[in-house]
Amino acid sequence: MSNEANMTQPNRRGLLIILSSPSGAGKSTLSKRLLDWDPTLSFSVSATTRQPRPGEQDGTDYHFLTEDDFKHEVAQQGMLEHAHVFGNFYGSPKGPVQNAIDAGHDVLFDIDWQGAQQIRNSSLGQHTLSIFILPPSIAELHRRLVSRGQDSEEVITKRMQKSWDEISHWDGYDFVLVNDDLERTFADLQTIVTATRLRRLQQPGLVDHVRNLQQEFEEIA
Ligand code: ADP
Ligand code: 5GP
Repeated sequence: MSNEANMTQPNRRGLLIILSSPSGAGKSTLSKRLLDWDPTLSFSVSATTRQPRPGEQDGTDYHFLTEDDFKHEVAQQGMLEHAHVFGNFYGSPKGPVQNAIDAGHDVLFDIDWQGAQQIRNSSLGQHTLSIFILPPSIAELHRRLVSRGQDSEEVITKRMQKSWDEISHWDGYDFVLVNDDLERTFADLQTIVTATRLRRLQQPGLVDHVRNLQQEFEEIA
């Protein structure tokens, strides 16, 4: 393959890796682990109209926008998907995702079922890998939200009330993991990502490789 062709057609086509779960089941924890495991993976920093939690940084955890700015971005077709969750708007900016996958890098999304559905139905749908994280029990989900220590009692009650709504969409995902033991769940997640990267669709360079094999075959025949 010429250098020029190499530049325009990377050997790997990037995956859009979507993690969803009810709040508190462990998707942020698992996302951080995945990003530490593979530094080539980029995180899709969402835009949101919710207030930052203590310790959250603008541009790293979220792009914190006013409602007007958020709506402006949506009107400019700047969001790959967007949804209203727990009384606030959330969305995934399109530009960084397109750049990353064009360069053959995978992008990780921590988004709800509405966003996952919109991405699956978009032109990038065939390059998605969607994983749903279930808690081992509702009592444990509540315990985790409380022990995280980041939300008020009122916010926790609201999130618990919405958790069934999120869980009820578990069957729209490619893979479902019950996050009981964190090490086990993370190991399963690594297996899923590793295997999906080997899908034929994610390896456009295979066409040239097989062509070269064929040529070699003909030369020795
Ligand atoms: P989410 O992003 O889904 O809202 P988090 O990743 O913030 O959830 O996890 C909620 C809390 O549960 C955190 O305090 C986290 O450390 C803890 N946690 C995550 N996974 C497990 C697990 N398998 N066992 C016990 N605690 C966990
Ligand atoms: P939190 O406020 O706890 O950070 O997130 C609340 C919910 O919004 C979580 O279920 C999270 O996955 C979801 N969420 C975060 N960013 C996005 C986004 O860009 N799009 C959609 N659809 N949901 C998001």
